[in-house]
Amino acid sequence: MARCDELAAYTEDPGRITRSYGTPALAAARDVIGQWMRDAGLEVRTDAVGNVRGKCHASAPAAPALLLGSHLDSVRDAGRYDGPLGILIALETVDHFRHRARPLPFPIEVIAFADEEGLRFQTTYLGSCALAGSLDSAFLDRVDENGVTLRDAMKAFGGDPGALAATALPAGAALAYLEVHIEQGPYLESVDAPVGVVTAISGQSRILAAFSGEAGHAGTVAMHLRRDPLPAAAEMVLATENLARHTSGLLATVGTIDVTPGASNVIPGQVRFSIDVRHPEDTVRNDMVSLLERQVREVAASRSLGAEWRIARDHAAVRCDAALTTRLAEAVAAAGLPVERLPSGAGHDAVVMSEVVPVGMLFIRCAGGISHHPAESVTTSDVAAAIDVLDRFVDTLANEKLQ
Ligand SMILES: [Zn+2]
Repeated sequence: MARCDELAAYTEDPGRITRSYGTPALAAARDVIGQWMRDAGLEVRTDAVGNVRGKCHASAPAAPALLLGSHLDSVRDAGRYDGPLGILIALETVDHFRHRARPLPFPIEVIAFADEEGLRFQTTYLGSCALAGSLDSAFLDRVDENGVTLRDAMKAFGGDPGALAATALPAGAALAYLEVHIEQGPYLESVDAPVGVVTAISGQSRILAAFSGEAGHAGTVAMHLRRDPLPAAAEMVLATENLARHTSGLLATVGTIDVTPGASNVIPGQVRFSIDVRHPEDTVRNDMVSLLERQVREVAASRSLGAEWRIARDHAAVRCDAALTTRLAEAVAAAGLPVERLPSGAGHDAVVMSEVVPVGMLFIRCAGGISHHPAESVTTSDVAAAIDVLDRFVDTLANEKLQ
C-alpha cells in the first residue's frame, strides 16, 4: 500500500496522477518498480516496447514461465491502484517464494506493462500486444497531441521499435498469464467479498449512430411539419437503456450526443450519438447490436429521417482459462473467503495475452466500484487477502508440476 502511494507521486500532471506511455513520469515509475524487482531477487530487463520485466530463478529455468503482472500507465487524473496494485501483489508473492527451501519448478516473470490505457496515442494494450506479437507496426506512425510519433516516443522511452518482433513470446514460453486487478465495479462490495474470480472479459461493440432531418426556426415551423432528429435520438437513448435493463448481463450506454447546429432557438438538423454495448457472450452482444440497429432504422422511418449506423469497434469476449479459474477459486476457498465469480466489463491486458497463453484474473473489491478517478480505494485487508490467494495459487501450481 505504501508502494502504491509512492508510485502515485510519479505523474506528468502535478497534483493528480497521470502517467501516459513514454513520458518521463512513466520512466521514473518504471525505474522504481525495476529497483523493487531487483530487491526481490529478480533479474530485470526492459523490453523493446518499454515494459519492465523481472524474472525469478527456478529449479528448471527453461520451463515455461508463469507470467504475473498488470499495467503501470494510467488514465488522466487516475487513482493509484488501477494497474500498479496488480504488479506489486505479483512482486509480493514472488518475494514470499524467494526464501523457501525448495525453488519453484517454473520461473515466474513479473511484468509491468508500459501502455494499457492508451491515453497518449489512443492505442490500448501496446505493452501486451508486443508480448503477444500482435502490435500493428502501422501504429508506430501515430502521433500524440504534440506531433510526436509513437516510434520516437518508444525510442525516447528506452525502447526499440526495430526489435518489437523479437519481444514476442515464443510459442510455449509461458505457462499462463495471471493478473490481479481492482474490480472497477460495485459487485464484490455488494456481496461483501474481498476478491472475485473473473470468468470472462466482456466483448464490446462501440457504435457511432446518427439521425439527420431538417434544421429550422423554433418559432415558425409547425410541429407536424418538423423533421427533428433529437426526439428520435431520445427514443434510442431510452430504447438502449430498456434493452439492457431487460437482458441479463447486458450493459449498454449512450455516452456522447452531439446536436447540430445546437442553438436553443433552432430545430436540430442532425444528431450524432454513440452506443457502447458489452456482454460476456458474443452471440448475445451481436444479437442486441442487430436489434438496436433495427430500432434505429424503424425510428428513422417513422419520423422521415435519415439514419447512419457504424460499428467503430468490435472486440470479442475472452473466456478465462477454465483450469486456471478453477484453481483460483480453490485458492480463494482455501483462504477461507467466499468464492465469487464475475465477468469483467472492462478490458485488460489479459484480453491480448489470451491470444498466446491461457489467462486468469482475480479482482479485488474497491470502494463504491469507483475507478479511473482519484477516489479509487481498496482496503489493506482485501489486498492481504488477494496476496494470500495468489500465494496459494502459485503453491498449488508448483506442487502439481512437481508431482
Ligand atoms: Zn487497469
